[in-house]
Amino acid sequence: MKYKTHIAFSTLAGVCVAKFLDIPFQTDYVMGVAVGSLLPDIDHPKSYIGKKLSKTSRVMSKTLGHRGLTHALPFWLCLFPLGFFMKENVFLGLWIGYLFHIVGDLLTVAGVPLFYPFSKARIKLPLAFKTGSSVEKGVFIACLLLIIVSMDANMFAELSSSLAIQLQALLKMASELINSLLIR
Ligand SMILES: [Zn+2]
Repeated sequence: MKYKTHIAFSTLAGVCVAKFLDIPFQTDYVMGVAVGSLLPDIDHPKSYIGKKLSKTSRVMSKTLGHRGLTHALPFWLCLFPLGFFMKENVFLGLWIGYLFHIVGDLLTVAGVPLFYPFSKARIKLPLAFKTGSSVEKGVFIACLLLIIVSMDANMFAELSSSLAIQLQALLKMASELINSLLIR
């Protein structure tokens, strides 16, 4: 899956999980989902996140290979303790986004070693498609539409008010910075 499809697919899953588990649907959660949906591909230097963190990505690619450990459920479970050091909403987003990256890659022909290191077998789901194919483009568009359809009014309200609060904080920081520069 391409990175855009991963973000859309994990965000759709993030909307459904937030609804089901009553997780506050705020910008920190959504950003967590988006980042989590990209993280597993850090083992590929040419992936979107691999290009951003090129040194780490090259080391991981050499030691782990693409779609190895980072695409396995046991590794995903091992990330859970990170939750004790992060803001709950951000971590939940990251963890959910990460999981649904793996699920997304299960839908591709190359599959993933889901139970690595216990089994190296690559698993894919029936109806798997090729990365970058027209089917994937269809999946991307369907995910975007389903995100809008699945979000209820409360979720839209929660997301927009948390976005407004963050924008306000950002504007306050910018005006304080400008003031301090002007005073000097
Ligand atoms: Zn992947």
